[in-house]
Amino acid sequence: MFYEDWETLSIAIDGLAGTGKSTIARNVAIKAGLAYLDTGATYRVAALVANQLNLSLEEVDDLIASLSNRSFEFRDGCLYLDGLDVSVQLRTPEISECASRWGTHPQLRQYLVQWQRSFGARTRGVVMEGRDIGSVVLPRARLKIYLFADDEVRNSRRLETPADQLLARDRRDAMRATDPVRAVFDAVTIDSSNRTIAELTDEIFGLYRLRIGC
Ligand code: C5P
Repeated sequence: MFYEDWETLSIAIDGLAGTGKSTIARNVAIKAGLAYLDTGATYRVAALVANQLNLSLEEVDDLIASLSNRSFEFRDGCLYLDGLDVSVQLRTPEISECASRWGTHPQLRQYLVQWQRSFGARTRGVVMEGRDIGSVVLPRARLKIYLFADDEVRNSRRLETPADQLLARDRRDAMRATDPVRAVFDAVTIDSSNRTIAELTDEIFGLYRLRIGC
């Protein structure tokens, strides 16, 4: 079943690592009765499969072919690869780094964006979070949010990742030629540095209610 207006009922949340977007997106989705997709998990699963097959960055065609032959599914905040929950394996610093490197590939991005949109099309509206949601994945989203936070605060939220690695990943995500992370002109930008998750969830949910008029 496909819902025609799913995209215009959706919320796009973008921002760098450590801005709080995953927790906030999940909470807003529950409050708004929308589905939730962590698009970072799709880049991470691509990196996991690439590592399993020992693929180098030049072998993007092989990676896409392999992803097409395997099933990956996002359900209740977890990523299932061929039916197995691999969410914990996806969170290692090594996979974070590889996901960001593979994320520079236009072909892989195109493949994953298509997957993300078809996930959305099976919902009545979705909260998606990532780097290019407002600009590429859901350009017609009802509400677009760009979250940012001080580097110090972001590092303290990502203690498992060394600060220099986080900085290198930020740089790559912001400077890559294809779909770099950015605040689109129609996004509401919010500084999450000194705010609680509950406050931010309420603020974003409030903005969404105003936009949909209820
Ligand atoms: O959001 P998360 O930190 O899990 O994402 C891992 C990596 O995947 C990011 O560093 C980024 O390079 C890539 N990514 C992306 N576009 C998205 C989501 C994630 O390029 N929409």
